[in-house]
Amino acid sequence: MCNYSNQNPLVFTIKGLCRVCYTCVRECPVKAIKIIDGQANIISKRCIACGNCVIVCSQGAKTYYSSVKKVENFIRSKNKTMLCIAPSFAAEFTEIKNYKIFVGMLKEVGFDYITEVSFGADLVAEKYKDIFENKKIKSVITSDCPAIVNYITHYHPDLVQFLAPIITPAMAMAEVVKQKYGNNLKVVFAGPCIAKKAESNCFDENLTFIELRKILENKNISQKNVTASEFDNPISGKGAFFPVNHGLLKSIDKTAGFGKGEVITAEGKVKFKEAINEFEKGFLENHHLELLCCDGCIEGPGMSKGVPKLVKRMNINKYVNNKLSKLSYEKWEKEKNDFLNIDLSRTFEPKDRRLKKPAKKEIKKILVSMHKIQKNDMLNCGACGYINCEEHAIAVCEGLAEIEMCLPYTIEKLHNLVDDLNKSHKKLSDTKQALKQSEKLASMGQLSAGIAHELNNPLGIITLYSSILKDEIDSKNDIYEDIKIIDEQAQRCKTIVGGLLNFARKNKVNLKETNIIDFVKHSFKSFVKPDNVEIKLVVEIENPIVQIDNEQMMQAITNIEKNAVEAMPKGGILKVKIFNEKNNIIFEISDTGIGIAEENREKIFTPFFTTKGANKGTGLGLPLVYGIIKMHKGKINVKSNNKPENGQTGTTFIISIPRN
Ligand code: ADP
Ligand code: MG
Repeated sequence: MCNYSNQNPLVFTIKGLCRVCYTCVRECPVKAIKIIDGQANIISKRCIACGNCVIVCSQGAKTYYSSVKKVENFIRSKNKTMLCIAPSFAAEFTEIKNYKIFVGMLKEVGFDYITEVSFGADLVAEKYKDIFENKKIKSVITSDCPAIVNYITHYHPDLVQFLAPIITPAMAMAEVVKQKYGNNLKVVFAGPCIAKKAESNCFDENLTFIELRKILENKNISQKNVTASEFDNPISGKGAFFPVNHGLLKSIDKTAGFGKGEVITAEGKVKFKEAINEFEKGFLENHHLELLCCDGCIEGPGMSKGVPKLVKRMNINKYVNNKLSKLSYEKWEKEKNDFLNIDLSRTFEPKDRRLKKPAKKEIKKILVSMHKIQKNDMLNCGACGYINCEEHAIAVCEGLAEIEMCLPYTIEKLHNLVDDLNKSHKKLSDTKQALKQSEKLASMGQLSAGIAHELNNPLGIITLYSSILKDEIDSKNDIYEDIKIIDEQAQRCKTIVGGLLNFARKNKVNLKETNIIDFVKHSFKSFVKPDNVEIKLVVEIENPIVQIDNEQMMQAITNIEKNAVEAMPKGGILKVKIFNEKNNIIFEISDTGIGIAEENREKIFTPFFTTKGANKGTGLGLPLVYGIIKMHKGKINVKSNNKPENGQTGTTFIISIPRN
């Protein structure tokens, strides 16, 4: 008896090998494949064991219950063993030119008897002939392909009544050998089919030809050095035509009706389904359907890949014709008569596995979630494995598929993801930049606080005494000029220390409601405006009230304005524009000055960076501005042009701070 069960399913996925290409989903005629955890899994309950997925999976991720070990054990045991071989062997072992050598090899493996399943086909063919010629039976579907039988019992249970009530050639052969050789024999079937493994319990094990090859390989048996041998009795006749299309008809000489439309043959997963659909709709009334799930048994999933179909077909024809030319018809007929007592009848039970079709509303919902809203959104590209977008959506509703299987949808999603990633990357690098800046500022702050604290008092004393000295000495005195220089430089030191102290103290903001227009106007009074500089104020806001730290923000704005004036030694325009952007208030402070050289643009916020010469600049203005803007949770950007050939030179600082 076959050894698989639901826990040990017939066809299954080898975990990890599946690369989710959806080819098996596409090729499965019954939607028995579900993507779970990135692996295409077979739902045993829905599977008809056609083995299409095994054939098409390029990764070898689909496989089936293996009988190799069990059969090797049979051979090793004391039991007598028989191998019952399907006639399609001639299409599999094409490298062996003489079937007797092949039989010899099988005997060498250790099988005591080798018989041909096609004798069972001979018996079954007679029964089909009865049905086809019985005028009372109007329509019938052949039941010799187990995958087709599964398909009908699972998915067209209403058609079960039309299945030919006849056992398969293999089942018939199992009865024959039992009668002829007794029960104390392990009987193994070998053929091209996976579904056969689940067909019945009539054999002790069912091998595919691929498995049979494995057994030959394991035993290291080749064509050389084997003794040719004949098949064991009973010898078969035309039944050997069974595995090719129209084979059943050939084996029962039923060619008269064929062509007049009485018998319709359909093979392969597309055509057999079409034929059944038409049959169900009543278009094929009074017809006999001969259906094969594969493109003939010779294309079955238990056959090795690589041999062209026509070569296989030719080999079968050659083998059968040769066999028939030597067949003693008298002996064959007599032998068939010996088994007339075998009951070839069979009944079928519907095993409905159909899923309830989801409501239109549900399908639409899924389609919308895949961004398929209009007709031209439905690409029906089939990349997901389903024939069109709607079928995919239905499978999603049924819990068999995932939305992500839609390639265009997933690509779109990926594009969006890449965009988002780019955006957050940009944000991250901006933040990193800002962090670097604040780190610099923080360490500067600490250092400044220390130095400023230590220097402030002695400097106060120096400036006090130097200015007293300067005031007391007559300007004509020899040392007056020297004292004046000491005083000037001491004052300068005080300015720097004052800047440093400012810088160090900025760690808190004291927000107050402020009229920003008045505030900016006031800032213009904090520096000396040269005559050649014109000031312009542009206001594009309605509500001028914002929350800022007055003192700090005044320092920030005037620092920028002073820089602007200093950048326009030959005069120009200082323009301040105030406007809204969402909840932010923006200040654009621009000048028509000399601009900032490109290589300096990154450095201007670094403490002590100045281009103004040792006596003029301190390089502490912009770092201070930066700190203040950040304290207000704002942003500062700079645009500048220092090359006249690129148009008006000048610099614009854009400050954005939240209104509240
Ligand atoms: P300082 O004014 O003491 O040099 P800042 O920190 O205020 O220090 O400015 C740093 C440098 O940035 C300046 O030396 C100058 O090179 C550049 N800079 C700032 N504002 C402007 C501007 N409006 N136009 C041209 N260069 C500017
Ligand atoms: Mg400055």
